[in-house]
Amino acid sequence: MVGGGGREHALASVLGRTAEVVVTRGNPGIPGSTATPPEEIDADLYVIGPEGPLVDGLADRLRAAGRLVFGPGADGARLEGSKAWMKEVLADAGVPTARHGVFTEVEPAEAFLRTLPPPWVVKTDGLAAGKGVLVTTSLDAAIADVAAKLSGAAFGDAGRRVVIEEGLIGPEVSLLCVCDGRRAVPLAPAQDHKRLGDGDTGPNTGGMGAFSPVPGAGKDLVDEVVERAVLPTLDALRNRGIDYRGVLYAGLILTADGPRVLEYNVRFGDPEAQVVLPRLDCDLAELLAEAAAGHLVSEPRFVDDAAVTVVLAAEGYPLAPRTGDAIHGLDAAAGRPDVSVFCAGVGAGSTTAGGRVLAVTGMGPTLEVARGRAYAAVADITWPGMQHRTDIAAADDRNERGLQ
Ligand code: AMP
Repeated sequence: MVGGGGREHALASVLGRTAEVVVTRGNPGIPGSTATPPEEIDADLYVIGPEGPLVDGLADRLRAAGRLVFGPGADGARLEGSKAWMKEVLADAGVPTARHGVFTEVEPAEAFLRTLPPPWVVKTDGLAAGKGVLVTTSLDAAIADVAAKLSGAAFGDAGRRVVIEEGLIGPEVSLLCVCDGRRAVPLAPAQDHKRLGDGDTGPNTGGMGAFSPVPGAGKDLVDEVVERAVLPTLDALRNRGIDYRGVLYAGLILTADGPRVLEYNVRFGDPEAQVVLPRLDCDLAELLAEAAAGHLVSEPRFVDDAAVTVVLAAEGYPLAPRTGDAIHGLDAAAGRPDVSVFCAGVGAGSTTAGGRVLAVTGMGPTLEVARGRAYAAVADITWPGMQHRTDIAAADDRNERGLQ
């Protein structure tokens, strides 16, 4: 298992049900963590968690050494490494998405913005850890954001090209599919909460919490997205000579005109992994090994139980997280029944070492019960300046999002 965040902790723990797992580099909160680089570890299967190493071609290097790898090569990972290229592939594949344009100069970008109705969406072309997207109802703010991104001031080279999109309205759903190059099997849908504050206020983050299943996102929706988006995308990639073996994560908005793909990611979502994977009722190592070998035959199964995860973040996240604070109560929280605590920004001696520090997952027969268990465990944990949302998977919030 390559990586060291909450997603990788969740993957390692679910892979660990049937396999022996080492995590590189992991973190002091993830059992089996090692500083040995992946190239120097002898394993039957390599699972690459984060987008960075995928975009950098780690899967290609491991495959060149004869290893079995779950995760796309650099060619396929470009879906996430360049939003402009992703939009080209979506257009080729005929996948419904938001109207958009790609720009490197302020004037034409501004002119395009003026042709779109609010809300306006401005994205960095390159990777920005989930923080490179502005959604705003202020045209002035959108124009200022274009200038800040294109100048390199806001996101360095990742922002020197921007994608401008029409804002879509509707509930968001994440659908993660395991792909073997030709076939795709969907995992249970999840919904994440991107904004820092309660009521979806404040800046976009990497994700502050998630839940699964998603009321209103049943088998019909999943089948439609697989048929109309995921499989045509795999075909479009294959036509470009790309054999995509890994997770294809479709970020969807369910508009009044049907589902639209906002983006693809090329790996498990974080924090979606922390709710989708604990619900798995099959052998994850087997499933990922089949996909890595180009020969998917298993169908993933899920328990009916719901899962809710709440992210605990450091003071100052997402702009300037403070690190080095002592975390209290982690063992008490992790010892509760039906609760898992996944470690992300955790340093030696149980101190904070990153922006998103922990993800606390509760499971139960309903979203309400799962949510109650997650928040009861959250109440065990404290450190100076800890922040979290109090409305993850709240019924009111789900209603406002139009899901029930
Ligand atoms: P992305 O990194 O493209 O998923 O964007 C991050 C977040 O910005 C998404 O999860 C949405 O909440 C929001 N977003 C992105 N594109 C749009 C859009 N076209 N319309 C409305 N919201 C969007």
